[in-house]
Parts: sequence; structure tokens; C-alpha cells
Amino acid sequence: MRDNTVETLTEVLGSMDDRQEQAEAVFAALRSNDRTRKRARTLTYRCPNTRRCALAEVYSSPVGVLIHHPHFKMSPKLNAATSSEEGRRANTLDGDRHWKARTYFLEAALNLTLSCDHIHDALIDREQVTRDIKAGHAEVIVTA
Ligand SMILES: [Zn+2]
Repeated sequence: MRDNTVETLTEVLGSMDDRQEQAEAVFAALRSNDRTRKRARTLTYRCPNTRRCALAEVYSSPVGVLIHHPHFKMSPKLNAATSSEEGRRANTLDGDRHWKARTYFLEAALNLTLSCDHIHDALIDREQVTRDIKAGHAEVIVTA
């Protein structure tokens, strides 16, 4: 990430105290530029199903390691079995089974909780993410 996007970002971030706001601002900037986004993406955790859902994307940025869980849809049966009405109301786009994307800095989580229609609440601890980054993996298939 060595282009104007980064410089602009650094300025914007300087005025932000809240790390969560920063995380969302960094991701919004990455999302707005495909090239920057591809270059910054370090690692993707995928599910073991043949669909290989992207469970979490890991981005390196000048201000920290960013984790992004893309929005996903769950089948009605699994959705009902694995979530509460309260959880659905707070964390879905439609109040039902379209789960919101989540973005945060790695430091904000003890572990990543990974879910899609094929894997439910698989956990990867923060140290493992750091090890996977160091190992240079571009993709990791989550089997747990
Ligand atoms: Zn999946």
C-alpha cells in the first residue's frame, strides 16, 4: 500500500480516536480501490465446502491488521438452529438470515469466530492468525 490512498488514509485516521471507527474507515478505503484491496489482502480463511465461502479476509494496513468477515446468508433451518431471535435482530440485515459483514482490527479480538452455511462458529485464535500471516499462506481452509 504505497499510493495516495494510504496518505489520505493516514491523515483521516490521525483525527480518529476510536479504533473501531478506524477499522471501518480503512476497510471502506480498501473497498473503494480493487487494486489496493488485492495488494493489502494477506490471507483469506475459507470454509471446507466446495463453495469455499470466504469466512474472513485479513488485510495488512499501515495502522494494523484488519479482519473483515463478509456478509453471508444462512439456510433457514441452520439459521433457526444456531441463533436467537435477539441475535438475529441485532446482527442481520433483514432481521432474519442475512448476516452483516463485520470489520475490526485483529487486536480487538481474542479469536475469530467463523461462520457460513457450512461451518458454524469455528474459532481461530489471534496467535494462529499471526502465525498464518508469518507463514505466508494466501488461503487457509478451516476444517474445525
Ligand atoms: Zn461455506
